[in-house]
Amino acid sequence: MANLSSSRVRVVLRVRPFLTSEIDSEETKQIPCITVLDPQSSGEVTVHLKDQWTSRNECYKLDSFFGQEDRVAQIFDKEASAVIPGIFQGLNATVFAYGATGSGKTYTMQGTENEPGLIPLTMSTIFNLRETTQYSVDIAYYEVYMDRCYDLLEPKAKEVIAMDDKEGRVQLKGLSWASVNSMDEFTEVYSAGVQRRKVAHTGLNDVSSRSHAVLSVAVTSGNVKGKLNLIDLAGNEDNRKTGNDGIRLQESAKINQSLFALSNVIYALNNNELRIPYRESKLTRILQDSLGGTSQALMIACLNPVSYQEAVHTVSLAARSR
Ligand code: ADP
Ligand code: MG
Repeated sequence: MANLSSSRVRVVLRVRPFLTSEIDSEETKQIPCITVLDPQSSGEVTVHLKDQWTSRNECYKLDSFFGQEDRVAQIFDKEASAVIPGIFQGLNATVFAYGATGSGKTYTMQGTENEPGLIPLTMSTIFNLRETTQYSVDIAYYEVYMDRCYDLLEPKAKEVIAMDDKEGRVQLKGLSWASVNSMDEFTEVYSAGVQRRKVAHTGLNDVSSRSHAVLSVAVTSGNVKGKLNLIDLAGNEDNRKTGNDGIRLQESAKINQSLFALSNVIYALNNNELRIPYRESKLTRILQDSLGGTSQALMIACLNPVSYQEAVHTVSLAARSR
């Protein structure tokens, strides 16, 4: 199991398998654009990105790598499960999925019926652990879109306002928390939120890939309270490639700004800087209590195996974070 030391953020990579549509294309040789150079090395890995059409290639260092054959359960066992014990001791933690649209973030976090993602795996572990002692488990589920927060446990995904408290920390005023006592109860509340996320923002296409979805899990016993955020980040976009205009351009500017702010925070934490730039975006302000200090954090950078350009975009930011 990974040793998640407090305040340092681990950054790992996951490359998903080729999709059927990607295999059918005659143009695609079945070689992923990313390989690990030295899989034996313990501690960190060097990944090699290579464009099959040109000779361009780049190398980056990261904490760990999961290839096309690796399942979500392995990421859970080796990386994500390490944050759970701390939650029961009153610590906070954050697990992010980061990457371009189509890279496997939702697959990794939410999973499918056949292959549960990190969210259900984490929740069932939490329910198993709590059986021994008396803990209550409460969840909140919200979305951050264009720097505004929407409560996905409320009808019509009601907007909640982020306000500074006396300590200068951001609080989401009126965010609803649902008490869940079993995996079945969790699944019911969470699925309704996922559904709400799909239908909110009528008139705008596919907002879900352009907003950050945050599932917060609070585990409380007496006055000991730990919190875990499980986050499916908005897809990082390369504007030069997508040629965005109008609302799309504003959206992707906000997305890129918040992802860049997040990487700045992680970089500052991992390099022991005195000033951590939480205030650069709504997202990092909201996560301030669960990133840095005694909090543990894990970033899973997701890649599709086809696009070299996207891979460089994602991995350079991920590698820069650590
Ligand atoms: P994102 O949330 O980053 O936009 P998705 O999670 O929706 O990406 O994944 C894009 C597509 O790839 C989906 O069709 C999904 O089912 C498939 N996919 C992603 N990861 C895997 C995986 N590890 N194994 C099999 N299929 C995957
Ligand atoms: Mg998604």
